[in-house]
Amino acid sequence: MAQDSIWNFDNSYLSLPSVFFSETSPTAISDPELLLYNSNLAKQLGLTELAKNKAYLTDVLAGNHVPKSTTSIAQAYGGHQFGHFNVLGDGRAILIGEIITPYEERFDIQLKGSGQTPYSRRGDGRSTLYSMLREYLISEAMAGLNISTTRSLAIVRSDDPVYRQTVQQTGVLTRVAESHIRVGTFELAVRMGNPDFIKKLFSYTADRHYPDVFDTENPALSFLQEVIQSQIKLVNDWLKVGFIHGVMNTDNMSIAGETIDYGPCAFMNHFDPLTVYSSIDEQGRYAYSNQSKIAKWNLMRLAETLLPLIHSDEKKSLELAQKEFDQFDESFQTIWKINHLAKLGIIKEEDGDEDLLNELFAWMETAKPDFNNTFRGLVDPHLHNEPVFNNSDFQTWKAKWLQRVSSVDNYENLLEDYNPSVIPRNHLVEEALIQASEDENMTPFNELLAKLQSPFEHYTSDKYQQPPSSENGYQTFCGT
Ligand code: AMP
Ligand code: MG
Repeated sequence: MAQDSIWNFDNSYLSLPSVFFSETSPTAISDPELLLYNSNLAKQLGLTELAKNKAYLTDVLAGNHVPKSTTSIAQAYGGHQFGHFNVLGDGRAILIGEIITPYEERFDIQLKGSGQTPYSRRGDGRSTLYSMLREYLISEAMAGLNISTTRSLAIVRSDDPVYRQTVQQTGVLTRVAESHIRVGTFELAVRMGNPDFIKKLFSYTADRHYPDVFDTENPALSFLQEVIQSQIKLVNDWLKVGFIHGVMNTDNMSIAGETIDYGPCAFMNHFDPLTVYSSIDEQGRYAYSNQSKIAKWNLMRLAETLLPLIHSDEKKSLELAQKEFDQFDESFQTIWKINHLAKLGIIKEEDGDEDLLNELFAWMETAKPDFNNTFRGLVDPHLHNEPVFNNSDFQTWKAKWLQRVSSVDNYENLLEDYNPSVIPRNHLVEEALIQASEDENMTPFNELLAKLQSPFEHYTSDKYQQPPSSENGYQTFCGT
């Protein structure tokens, strides 16, 4: 078709050994309906022309037509799931291709929920409309919060049944990512018995995401450092808004440093470091405050795969890699402190600032106020109307803090820039998703999405800012 030429495909992943992927086509769905289309993102990707022919656009994004100029594949990968290694792969996702944007950036265009692949094991290769709407909403909220993330270009729905606990509608999500290369891709590469595979994957990935490492003395070690730094930044970005990924398996950790896989994720309301929402995370492995430890553990799995490339002497190699992890906690903590002081309107640290921060967290641990409103309420006082903020310990702390920031120019602006006024509140997300997927009413979803796309705006009073009165054991689920 003529429109096929609009896509500027350049599928570099196909240059890897064939063990890394399988050529696969999406399975068509009946009567596809383009339910959501992210025109702003389409513009950034150089895809504006596509919207001129809605039928064509719908067909491609449904997986009913693959443009002639590309070869679609499912990617092979492995991963430690809750600490245990498994061979996985795209069981319900198909990479349509990599496109080059007008700004010469490269992005994967992937259809999620597009039918079975050679890696589907016993799965149906499908996703429910509900879970794809969830990924669309939260990933776009993360982008609004300036947190590195895969993006959502579209959702196509169909009445084709998806069998879960109940019969549901089909949703196909178009996911856009810097790449879908995971820690688990490296883990699979070293387990396939040919030392060439890890070398090739490393060269390819470093060239795609961290090309500067080839100018250093030890490219593999520099690559490890870069990936560690990007994850330290990412997980800290999560912590500062109360985000809990929920399933930080190594197959869900992107080498490019994007948040990927919005299964059981959720946002913490009342402050509790041990908060867990995922129904299957019974041990709290992926709890809010465990995320730095888990990131480190996952990155160690990556480091193991790179050992043969870091140094020919195994002992030396291990020593060099270990050094990076000896510094991990301190690097993580440094960024944590910078971020949280900024949330208090403090950019240049002075003596006593660390105590100020620690005192606030000590109070939050006992009083359990709403995490985001504690910070944003410092500049939007209506968010401190809840009784918990009348507490004398908090008032004493606030007076001390006010005295500290009174000398900082424009500290109110800093507070507005660093503290979102709206986050995806679990109860509102749930309500919007139920209305959209069960009642075909997209209004609450679209209203919530619009708010979440500009989360730093000032509101005098708004239902989107309030935590629920109780979470009633709120739970999230994987792979639905
Ligand atoms: P996730 O929990 O989404 O990270 O998925 C873990 C693994 O299970 C990945 O390899 C997925 O491709 C696969 N998977 C999840 N759901 C399905 C499904 N419905 N059909 C086939 N594979 C699936
Ligand atoms: Mg996954």
